[in-house]
Amino acid sequence: MPPVFPFLPQRLTGLVEIAGNLNWTWNREARRLFAAIDQQLWTRYRHDPYQLLTQVGPERLAQCAADPAFLAQYDAVMRWSQSESSPAQTWFVQRFREHSRETIAYFCAEFGVHHTVPIYSGGLGVLAGDHCKTASDLGVPLVGVGILYRRGYFDQEVRADGWQEDTDMPFDVARTVLEPVEGTAGAPHLVVVRTAGRDVFVRAWRLRVGRVTLYLLDTNLEPNHPDDRLLLSRLYAGGPALRLKQEWLLGVGGVRVLRALGIAPAAWHANEGHASFMFVERVRERVAAGVAFADAVREVRAASTFTTHTPVPAGHDTFPADDLVACTGPVWDELGVDRETFLRIGRHPSDSSGAFHMTAAAIRLSRRVNAVSRVHGVVTRKLWASLWPGRREVDLPVTHVTNGVHLATWMSNSIMRLLDAHLGQGWGNRVDDPALWDDVLQLDAQKLWDVHCWQKGRLLVHMREQARIAFTNHTREAARLAGTGVLLDPEALTLCFARRFATYKRANLLFHDVERLLRIVGNPSHPVQVIFAGKAHPADGPGKQMLQEVYQATRDPRFEGRLAFLEDYDMHLAHVLVQGADVWLNVPRVPMEASGTSGMKAALNGVPQLSTVDGWWEEGFNGHNGWAIAPLPGESAAEDDAAAADQLYELLETSVVPMFYARDAAGLPQRWIQMMRHALRAAGLRFTSRRMLMEYVTDFYVPSMRGEATGEEAPTG
Ligand SMILES: *Cc1c(COP(=O)(O)O)cnc(C)c1O
Repeated sequence: MPPVFPFLPQRLTGLVEIAGNLNWTWNREARRLFAAIDQQLWTRYRHDPYQLLTQVGPERLAQCAADPAFLAQYDAVMRWSQSESSPAQTWFVQRFREHSRETIAYFCAEFGVHHTVPIYSGGLGVLAGDHCKTASDLGVPLVGVGILYRRGYFDQEVRADGWQEDTDMPFDVARTVLEPVEGTAGAPHLVVVRTAGRDVFVRAWRLRVGRVTLYLLDTNLEPNHPDDRLLLSRLYAGGPALRLKQEWLLGVGGVRVLRALGIAPAAWHANEGHASFMFVERVRERVAAGVAFADAVREVRAASTFTTHTPVPAGHDTFPADDLVACTGPVWDELGVDRETFLRIGRHPSDSSGAFHMTAAAIRLSRRVNAVSRVHGVVTRKLWASLWPGRREVDLPVTHVTNGVHLATWMSNSIMRLLDAHLGQGWGNRVDDPALWDDVLQLDAQKLWDVHCWQKGRLLVHMREQARIAFTNHTREAARLAGTGVLLDPEALTLCFARRFATYKRANLLFHDVERLLRIVGNPSHPVQVIFAGKAHPADGPGKQMLQEVYQATRDPRFEGRLAFLEDYDMHLAHVLVQGADVWLNVPRVPMEASGTSGMKAALNGVPQLSTVDGWWEEGFNGHNGWAIAPLPGESAAEDDAAAADQLYELLETSVVPMFYARDAAGLPQRWIQMMRHALRAAGLRFTSRRMLMEYVTDFYVPSMRGEATGEEAPTG
């Protein structure tokens, strides 16, 4: 049900079709086509085709429809769009033809596909989005199941004193590419899920991500109790009781929606424990079909994959048994067991409270369990070892698949053009060949540097534009404007720190020794600038305090206008930042970062990372592609912070800053450029979602489809 564009000429109506499938977002020609309609509007409306087509004048559209060059571009994109409908030539179909008519169901509480569909909060969602885009590219027959949060994740506004205000205006679904899925006999709902003693009607919206479809659940329906209509309106907001209901609806409702649509997945994947009830619902289905509980569990396990993303115990969802039962009702009757047996699915052997652990449930009900980086694998086996009493940690059946990012989403057009010229057109079809990435080390220094400087310029233009809008709307004080980045110098070394303001990510680590930082930033011949962006979770007081501390520093004249904070970090802003930074800064407290992915996005744009050795950096750092803050475990978090801060300053003073400013006769920082090449090479070789999804397919999905055993029975703990 796309919006109507009355002035769109007949010749160009395909634009609506292209906009209706988000695969345009990772097709360069399609993006270029929209931009060609009106570059200014395209930028102003943040790459939103529906907004563009609404705002652009009829004369300009008529001009496009009469312009042979535009039409040639348009026709080429239309041909690509049609060719996309057949997966015949894709990796999966070529390799696993016998499974190409089957389906893999992928459940996640959030999906970050494009910023115009704001149903993600951060890394988990963006990863899920990249997973789906890659499945489309590779022809993996995947469907996604998630939730449509009408109020999305909150919008961030930072007060003059640096305190984050969380606003949540519902977004207008009619202005997005979401399409309602018709229920049977015209009913808006597809399925009913009993939750907390009431029947809740659930509908679904369809989001097209190339060849992959996402089904997003929604309870905002007339017949539902007013409270139930709001159950799915917000992402990660409200207390545990609401969250529990959301997860129950996602798991149970998600399976039922797939059934209602006639989809019978041969493999199932829960991305993080929020979706664990999907496994429970499938056990219930098997029991309803006459299978004994223990056999039903065995069958469900055989077809299931579970990915955990959280290295800290407190990050895993747990619910008190009574709350769980209040939400689910006596489902154990339907499972053919007693209440205790049902609750035992989520029991943690070292937790005597009897709480239901979503991760434990997922581990018990999936045969294939993985963490998201090598170090996170070690941490995860330690965290859940008590599920397998008497076994050595290293032998536990928990492996890892290191995360990756979607190249065509995160690599900029200009870097791609540079690679076109250097590697030859069609290099995108040869990315599995390591030699291709070795070739990147021969990139011309001047050209790579020019592209980078141009992108950095775009970042500064973006910041000035945001500042201009803020100035027009509300922000009049000079100090606040200075903190928006209007004073940044395009020639100065620029670090970016953009991520959620969770305290373990230590956004304030740079301020550990303010005097030392002042000397680094204010060095008159070698100045350093830092751009911060990110949101604190609405309920995370310490995270908000950390944000306030950083924000106030960006308004502090002692830093000479060299620090900036950008509001409302989302995928759009992430693109601008990972493409325009000189250095990507990442300083989580080890080992709390399961993987981290933003540094991979930066690296795909030739931006080296400076990071603590955690998550992907433990595998990715090779001595040539950035800098590593070595783990020096202190006695306490405070000692740890002090040691990490000291190394951070030391690296900046002795390596990063001197290398950036060391120029040859042509004005090029040759050693720096070599580091950029290495950053690009390492990311292209190992840290794309293509490599990641191929591992999921060959190690998990296809063996599940084939019913292959792993030699592992359910954990006994
Ligand atoms: C990639 C991304 C993240 C995840 O970044 P981390 O490195 O894991 O912190 C979060 N938010 C947005 C908008 C992103 O694009």
